[in-house]
Amino acid sequence: MREENILYVVVPCYNEEEVLEETTKQLKNKMEKLIKDEKISKKSKVLYVNDGSKDRTWEIIKDINKKEKLFTGITLSRNRGHQNALLAGLMTAKEYADVVISMDADLQDDINAIDEMIEKYTNEKCEIVYGVRNSRKKDTWFKKFTAQGFYKFMKFMGVDIVYNHADYRLTSKKVLEQLENYEEVNLFLRGLFPLIGYKSDIVYYERKERFAGESKYPLKKMLYFAWDGITSFSIKPIKFVMSIGLLIFLISIAILIYCIIVKIIGKTVEGWTFIVCSIWLVSGIQMFSIGLIGEYIGKVYNEVKHRPRYIISENLNENEE
Ligand code: UDP
Ligand code: MG
Repeated sequence: MREENILYVVVPCYNEEEVLEETTKQLKNKMEKLIKDEKISKKSKVLYVNDGSKDRTWEIIKDINKKEKLFTGITLSRNRGHQNALLAGLMTAKEYADVVISMDADLQDDINAIDEMIEKYTNEKCEIVYGVRNSRKKDTWFKKFTAQGFYKFMKFMGVDIVYNHADYRLTSKKVLEQLENYEEVNLFLRGLFPLIGYKSDIVYYERKERFAGESKYPLKKMLYFAWDGITSFSIKPIKFVMSIGLLIFLISIAILIYCIIVKIIGKTVEGWTFIVCSIWLVSGIQMFSIGLIGEYIGKVYNEVKHRPRYIISENLNENEE
């Protein structure tokens, strides 16, 4: 039993005045039960992150904090988006907690999965536990289709993400300390955790419908988010341009040969051969050059992200000095 573990549940909130009361009620029950069962320390808390809401969200959080010591909060100076709000919460929570769980304010993620997550952390020594929805029955056809397409496309692009995992996950303090070393600005958190490594596992849960308020992820934001995910983790699109350049260049050589043959046979109009050959050759070279420059930009991009090159998880020599 590691009942001394301080758990922080981090919940980003943007215009969530309609759901906060219910969320607080349910989280309170869960946390009190976990504390009573000595699964987590008495110092455990729920940390609300107000992401520059335009409604009464922050006032409500302050009220809750006054009434219940179990709940605390931080507020951002303006709306910075889900991923940044989450990061702010995680970085704040890691100063006080041994283990942190992140989840959405709308309780779409089943809070009963928390028990299993903590189980895996305490008993199986997992440093990251990913919450994975086991079906998308409640999602609309459109959401299901776009989301699944997104995961498949990400895999194709060579980005390592956990299938059907959003941002409902448990992370230990150790992992969060490493996350701090990933200094990139275009955040796509669910792609970063697999990069960090350590022992991890998956917990399955049923994803519910939002019980109040509306989704803060309209299609436009979703597309931006997906685009961020791809462009922050993959330089495959650049490689694609280069391949096309090479292909056009090869075709141009074939056309060059063809044009010369036609010219020799004498079935052309005056000047045709020269123009056609020039167009193909020059555009092939141009496309290839753009791809080549892209390769270097891709390298520069990877360099400026300053991601850690490795993380040592255990060092036997450390204790032998
Ligand atoms: N959120 C946020 N800042 C934003 C947009 C969303 O902090 O700019 C929070 C929101 O309050 C919620 C979570 O991110 O707790 C997920 O948003 P939502 O439930 O609307 O997304 P969906 O579940 O529809 O994908
Ligand atoms: Mg939601």
